[in-house]
Amino acid sequence: MTEVSIEKLTKSYGNARAVNAISMKIAEGEFISLLGPSGCGKTTTLKMIAGFEDVTEGAIRFDGQDVVNTPAEKRDIGMVFQNYALFPHMTVEQNLAFGLEMRKVPKPQMRERIAKVLDMVQLKGYEARYPRQLSGGQQQRVALARALVIEPKILLLDEPLANLDAKLREEMRVFIRDLQRRVGITTVYVTHDQAEAMTMSDRVVVMFGGRIAQIGSPTDIYERP
Ligand code: ADP
Ligand code: ADP
Repeated sequence: MTEVSIEKLTKSYGNARAVNAISMKIAEGEFISLLGPSGCGKTTTLKMIAGFEDVTEGAIRFDGQDVVNTPAEKRDIGMVFQNYALFPHMTVEQNLAFGLEMRKVPKPQMRERIAKVLDMVQLKGYEARYPRQLSGGQQQRVALARALVIEPKILLLDEPLANLDAKLREEMRVFIRDLQRRVGITTVYVTHDQAEAMTMSDRVVVMFGGRIAQIGSPTDIYERP
């Protein structure tokens, strides 16, 4: 469980500020959404937390430790993207094993962790399938499993439901939130979908033009026009 603290975080591309001196504290185990229109800086913020984008100015702290100069692979982050990004030529099991092999987790422990995480996403028995043999929702559950199997400190989700149809999207909202509660992992969820942010989050960060326009619980945000 990890607390994330962001202080005056800024990302400039040339003269343009994609993210402009934003500050927020995300509590241990909290589910927070970054909500706002396309181009407001959500993904850039997420990528800076993950370490995929350099920070122009400001601080990102995990449990008080500044990680701005820590490379992505050392930050213990689980990440899920809109497009799943499963390895198409690998089975479900191989997709899940990949990150564990990189971390040199011993084989027996690896099998145990893969079994546990597949159980969590209700995909026991799918070990030998290839991504193309799975539905969109199942693929996204494998992507979630792959993010969680490394037992990360923080889970980052970038529009993970955007490619799913409306009905499945609603099911997956509940599924992701239940899973997140069970694991108890600090989670940052990027979306432009207001209903998603409002139904899933402990708190919502409304972004506009690289800045934070509002921050609060879903009811706070609804009641303050
Ligand atoms: P969102 O995720 O909210 O849609 P982004 O964080 O992707 O927004 O983008 C924020 C702003 O930064 C946008 O104006 C976008 O065009 C700009 N931007 C993002 N990546 C780059 C880049 N690599 N080079 C230049 N501008 C970028
Ligand atoms: P979006 O749909 O929000 O724009 P993308 O799927 O394009 O998100 O984001 C993926 C980006 O994140 C890549 O372009 C890359 O910059 C970065 N990225 C993703 N995975 C990794 C990784 N394993 N190592 C380094 N950078 C990564």
